Amino acid sequence: TVVTRFAPSPTGFLHIGGARTALFNWLYARHHGGRFLLRIEDTDRARSTPEAVEAIFDGLRWLGLDWDEEPVFQFSRAARHAEVANALLAEGKAYRCYATQEELAAMREAQKAAGQPMRYDGRWRDRDPADAPEGVPPVIRMKAPRDGETVIEDQVQGRVTVANDQLDDMILLRSDGTPTYMLSVVVDDHDMGMTHVIRGDDHLTNAFRQSQLYRLIGWEPPAFAHIPLIHGPDGAKLSKRHGALGTEAYRDMGFLPEAMRNYLLRLGWGHGDDEIISDAQARDWFDLDGVGRSAARFDTVKLTSLNAHWLRQAADARLVDLIAGRLGQPVDKEGRQRLLAGMAGLKERAKTVVELADSAAFYVRPRPLALDDKAKKQVTGDGAETLALLRDRLGAVEPWDREALEADARAVAEDRGLKLGKVAQPLRAALTGSTVSPPIFEVMEIMGRNETLARVDDCLG
Ligand code: GLU
Repeated sequence: TVVTRFAPSPTGFLHIGGARTALFNWLYARHHGGRFLLRIEDTDRARSTPEAVEAIFDGLRWLGLDWDEEPVFQFSRAARHAEVANALLAEGKAYRCYATQEELAAMREAQKAAGQPMRYDGRWRDRDPADAPEGVPPVIRMKAPRDGETVIEDQVQGRVTVANDQLDDMILLRSDGTPTYMLSVVVDDHDMGMTHVIRGDDHLTNAFRQSQLYRLIGWEPPAFAHIPLIHGPDGAKLSKRHGALGTEAYRDMGFLPEAMRNYLLRLGWGHGDDEIISDAQARDWFDLDGVGRSAARFDTVKLTSLNAHWLRQAADARLVDLIAGRLGQPVDKEGRQRLLAGMAGLKERAKTVVELADSAAFYVRPRPLALDDKAKKQVTGDGAETLALLRDRLGAVEPWDREALEADARAVAEDRGLKLGKVAQPLRAALTGSTVSPPIFEVMEIMGRNETLARVDDCLG
């Protein structure tokens, strides 16, 4: 069965590129009925923080990317990593290197001066360990193949090759006995049973060395799939400057996780011309052959339009819960009922949860309602007269529903020789504090007679 993983380094939040990598791995596993595992690559002790680990968990949970089994913390497996390196040493597939920092610096200088690429020259590879200098703690290096080439049949990039003489004998264990990142990744991916490693193509060059190490140990490498990085709208690699933020920032900006999933999926993966892709379709359709080979550009406009779509699909009660904390005041039972009743009309008009909250707030604001400047103009002069006329009739409208209310407003409009809009605008201003809102007779029905009359009276003074 398929086993994939997401292996973030917990040095910040779950950023957008990481979220997409996680999504692709998750979808690949789910599509194939396999397992999706999480590994926290926390070996950089200075930069890894518990807060960052929590931020990754939170981000994945918010995105709905559930992982199977307990997360693996890479640092806790250091002894196992060292064990593998020491086994290679015992088998003669790795060796101790006693070259000092000064010596290596001099080697690099010489290579540079000669116009050669800088790489470790293997000076301790075949040297007698009896030559080992006193008091120099050695590193352990792998004996990388020197002839031939290393080939990766990448599931996205195709066949990629490097001549083995381009790579040097990389360090597996540092002189203090700690494993290097390359060793840790290979041992963990093997021990966790990884069948597919799907990650950003900034890791493609690592894959050559990792592949060599797998073979040296005698393990079969997993299938690799290196996906093109995400670029900003200007074509440069996505950075904070482009809004490469953490998933929590997108949540705070009012994006829904399903919209984010849909958008991240489309960022580098395609299925014909489909733009709107449901979770069920994503699971059905996702495979690596749909991953493009060129970098995708992050496009907030597209994300926003997908969000508007998924907002309209979302259940009203869920949206009420999502906006409840963003209304600037507590919501009582009656307020909640109004929001629930009004949600169908509200969600048609909003692109984000933030906009939705802004447009819904009037339903629960305490009286007297603050009117914006445009709304204020609507309830003065002619508008005030119209409002007063309506006020006198509203007490008698039966039943209190949108049809009867509209019919009544039409009668007033005809009386005064006005268009319906001229009558509706002062009402809208008085009831919502704004000149834009869902259809006003729907608003009045939801608000109820008492609140409607009270708000109109507030404006009439
Ligand atoms: N920890 C690495 C990163 O955050 C990922 C390593 C991998 O996927 O092999 O970029």
